[in-house]
Amino acid sequence: MGKLKEKLAEKKILVSDGAWGTELQKLGFTAGESPELWNLEKPELVENVATGYVKAGADIIETNSFGGSSVKLAHYGLKEKTFEINKAAAEISRRAAGSEVLVMGSVGPTGKFIMMGDVTADELYDGFLEQAQGLKAGGADFIIIETFYDITEAEIAIKASKEAGFDDIICSFTYDKAGDIFNTMMGINPPEIASFVESTGGTVLGTNCGNGFADMKSIVEQYKANTNLPVLVQANAGIPLLQNDELVYPETPEIVESLVPDLLSAGVSIIGGCCGTTPEHTKRIKGAVNKLRRFV
Ligand SMILES: [Zn+2]
Repeated sequence: MGKLKEKLAEKKILVSDGAWGTELQKLGFTAGESPELWNLEKPELVENVATGYVKAGADIIETNSFGGSSVKLAHYGLKEKTFEINKAAAEISRRAAGSEVLVMGSVGPTGKFIMMGDVTADELYDGFLEQAQGLKAGGADFIIIETFYDITEAEIAIKASKEAGFDDIICSFTYDKAGDIFNTMMGINPPEIASFVESTGGTVLGTNCGNGFADMKSIVEQYKANTNLPVLVQANAGIPLLQNDELVYPETPEIVESLVPDLLSAGVSIIGGCCGTTPEHTKRIKGAVNKLRRFV
């Protein structure tokens, strides 16, 4: 049994961390750079983000490797450094996590499509494999394939992660909301994703980004109606609004805390944040989970 399954069996509900991108921006990261290059050039700042989430009470923290496949890194001329960058990402989070907190290696989509002729299936596979091998070498416990919208690309990423030696793989998709209907950018709905993840041997089925906490319940219910796999939610702190030239996320830590019980009763097993969430959100989520744990 992988460490994730063990921990889930022991604690039933796990708290994962919050946003990395928006936290790195607070430390001076600007658009146009590769966030993953910071693992080599500014490891102490990346570690600050990881440590912030450990101190806030996360049971699981991510790695700064969302755009770390070689296909994505090639955009910054960093293809040759793929293994090194991902290994460093996992090492930084591992240092911050210590022995109690789990490290999940973050793998994001490449933004390229096989059907558009942007990339071949082999290029995608090699890119994800090299990334997963780096994350494994750096000490990641398992993989999260996150913010995905295309099952073809997800299937390749899952296969490559298994090839790199990972037993546990979380597969998390992003949905756009139109009225009350949720579909990925490629027009796939939550029940279809549930059967896809089950058939490809994912450990946990997830949804992250795209929506705030308030909108995730419907996706969770559709997942639970179609699979027995544990479900992860990492929601944004709502949909950001532009105020005085600044993006403001409307779901405050207090609001998120108040939404946690509903998500847990819908069947969520791992709960954390995506864009706009902070260690303060993590602290509040943890508090809400602990309060509920007393009644379980
Ligand atoms: Zn996000």
